[in-house]
Amino acid sequence: VENRIRQVFDAIKDCVGDKGWHEGDAALPYLRDWYDTINGEVGLVVTPTTTEQVAQVMRLCHVAGIIVTPQGGRTGLVQASTPFEGNVNLVLNLARMNQIRNLDLIGDTVTVDAGIILENLREKVAVSGKLFPLSIGAKGSCQIGGNIATNAGGINVLRYGNTRDLVLGLEAVLPDGTIWSDMSGLRKDNTGFDIKQLLIGSEGTLAVITGAVLKLFPHPTASETAFAGVQEPTDALALLTLAKERLGPDLCAFELVSHGALLAAERAIGTAAVALKNAAPWYIICEIAGTKEGEGYQQDMESFIEAAFEKKLVSDGFLAQNQAQQDAIWRTREAISEGLHHACRHDISVKVSHMAQVLKILDAAVTEIDPDAEIAPFGHMGDGNLHYAVAIGGDHSSVGAPDVAAKIKARVYEIVHQNGGSFSAEHGVGRNVQDFTRYKDQVSRGVMSQIKQIFDPRNQMNPGVLFADPRQSGR
Ligand SMILES: Cc1cc2nc3c(=O)[nH]c(=O)nc-3n(C[C@H](O)[C@H](O)[C@H](O)COP(=O)(O)OP(=O)(O)OC[C@H]3O[C@@H](n4cnc5c(N)ncnc54)[C@H](O)[C@@H]3O)c2cc1C
Repeated sequence: VENRIRQVFDAIKDCVGDKGWHEGDAALPYLRDWYDTINGEVGLVVTPTTTEQVAQVMRLCHVAGIIVTPQGGRTGLVQASTPFEGNVNLVLNLARMNQIRNLDLIGDTVTVDAGIILENLREKVAVSGKLFPLSIGAKGSCQIGGNIATNAGGINVLRYGNTRDLVLGLEAVLPDGTIWSDMSGLRKDNTGFDIKQLLIGSEGTLAVITGAVLKLFPHPTASETAFAGVQEPTDALALLTLAKERLGPDLCAFELVSHGALLAAERAIGTAAVALKNAAPWYIICEIAGTKEGEGYQQDMESFIEAAFEKKLVSDGFLAQNQAQQDAIWRTREAISEGLHHACRHDISVKVSHMAQVLKILDAAVTEIDPDAEIAPFGHMGDGNLHYAVAIGGDHSSVGAPDVAAKIKARVYEIVHQNGGSFSAEHGVGRNVQDFTRYKDQVSRGVMSQIKQIFDPRNQMNPGVLFADPRQSGR
């Protein structure tokens, strides 16, 4: 690191204090993402404790031209939370900004530091009878700031929406160190452009999110979870319609799991956490939760399942009898990602009504490229979002031949695009800039570039993410 930068790093270290920085080997964990690959190089990692410290760090970086990667729990799946090659990078990890600033039980809001871990937040508000509904497999590690920066989805979008729908206010530090704050938490405020909406889903390319006001809901006092085998995705779609009819607005999750994905979960857990007597090509997980009293939900769910059997939409299934069985179902669902660690994965979305038909087209196309491929889709059927995972050559122990993976990816994205879908439903774009350029319309990309230019004219924030960066060789 050249002398000039070394001096700036020293000033930054002073400002965050002894416990607030890492370099050399101690910085390595901050370069490792969920895929367990080390990405890029870093000059300094800082973990500030206040918004003011973040502002000071950003001011110093701005003046010295140091590139900043805002970082949460590093569970992002598009390589956007670790820096690129080159040693004048600074990683700004929010882990030590992890406090609840205020809990408003009348207004149903919670004000938090951006570094709070999602699961901790959920547990803390639950004590006061409140629900923060965002729920994803990585909830034990991901941070609210990361969730906001990626507009995370998860299993409860059907009932509560994406992260975007849960944010009432934001505080952020702009690239030049200016603190921008819109933390009033008002539910109505039509005074011009809604700047926070630009930061939600911006993947660390515009500003560092330091705080948020989030919506809370009554914590469910009762819930029912069903697990059932189905023969075809068309049957699963018919079941979804039936579930909406019979279970009403408290239907909070409707997931589709292929048999291959179930086997992947078993591989990850080591045992079959959940199993049916009769295996099926597909399974659905359906959950209803809310504040209905007595046997209400149980009766609703039983009537749903009965109707599903009558209509011959399910081949086998059960209703979880207690919390332990509910937990086992969700543990299975959450373990799928781990079991498909090496698979070639696609986070796609299409209109809910198109899902079955698009799946058929995708399967045929992938099998044509790789007849031995094991296709193991799973995901959020209620939102039209599937994680379309393919184990190349049917091999789960390696990522397979890169040229085959590239061919499959191109074909999958092409088909999804032709069918009006998105190549990234909930994980973000990250460093998949080529796909973004190919599949996102030109006018939208043009407007986004102009917005980037306004926030970050020197391209110091997470370069190479969302937008191509001429300084990078690419990876
Ligand atoms: C097992 C598993 C299951 C998952 N399930 C889901 C799922 O169901 N739905 C879903 O949507 N995602 C899912 N994900 C992806 C991932 O968990 C989400 O993208 C999550 O929101 C990332 O949060 P993070 O704190 O780990 O962020 P990171 O990975 O650290 O960062 C992600 C992006 O956000 C930026 N960022 C982080 N913090 C800030 C900040 N404070 N200010 C500005 N930018 C910031 C980073 O620069 C980067 O671009 C899953 C991941 C795993 C490993």
